[in-house]
Amino acid sequence: MNVTIVEQFDENKATFFAKICDKYFYSSELLTFCFCIFTTFQIIFWLFNSFLLYIEYNDIPSIDQYRLQKHKPKLRFQPDMIKIIRNGIIRHQISSVVMLPVMYYLLNAFGHVSVTGPIPSLFTIVWQLSIFILAEDFLFFWTHYLFHTRWLYKHIHKKHHLYKQPIGVVAVLADPLESLFQNQLGIWLIPILLKEKHLLTLCLWILIRVYQTVNAHCGYDLPYISTQYYLPWLMSGTLAHDYHHQHGKMNYGSFFTLWDRLMNTHKLSKED
Ligand SMILES: [Zn+2]
Ligand SMILES: [Zn+2]
Repeated sequence: MNVTIVEQFDENKATFFAKICDKYFYSSELLTFCFCIFTTFQIIFWLFNSFLLYIEYNDIPSIDQYRLQKHKPKLRFQPDMIKIIRNGIIRHQISSVVMLPVMYYLLNAFGHVSVTGPIPSLFTIVWQLSIFILAEDFLFFWTHYLFHTRWLYKHIHKKHHLYKQPIGVVAVLADPLESLFQNQLGIWLIPILLKEKHLLTLCLWILIRVYQTVNAHCGYDLPYISTQYYLPWLMSGTLAHDYHHQHGKMNYGSFFTLWDRLMNTHKLSKED
């Protein structure tokens, strides 16, 4: 009787992740981790991009006023563009499925990723996310800066710069080497080195990073939902990255403008 009460109590206390781990993933923490990170990416990527695709095909003056490269017509996906982006997205999805088990192994090799354990305090989540963001911004800036040196640009980074007028879905276009050393390294290095991390914090981190990159490529300086709308002096975002794609130089940072200001590579479209 007592055991039943304890079991019932534990069942009630189990987190969402622990419940789905037991119910759908044969109690495999690896499968639960891969599913949750992959699904977080898909939800935020496709939600944001569905909105962007909707405004791409529908002229809504109240939104179109925020479009950045107004001197050019909307892209509205030509057949060759659909093929390139579709292939880029498929490649990205396949590489995510292959990469996530490796990340799970690395996250546990240098520390411990808690999948079914109790949810960390808000304070822990906030300080860990802050460190992830600051470290990613540093790593992204310097690797991106390097990828703009002549040889690396020509052989690797040029693929990402295929479109001078970016839209959200082109965020995933990248050479595998760029994807590994510029994107994945910045996202995962600190979580791997951190001793104790929770799946919830990692899902939130993926959500923030994917939102940031789709926003950077969206082509609209949208109020309220864009990072650069808040603290425009500090936050990088669409204005900076759109300029970067349009001119193939300047604004190498991801979250903040600090490294660009320090290296004298900060310039915005509105200052043209
Ligand atoms: Zn670039
Ligand atoms: Zn880009």
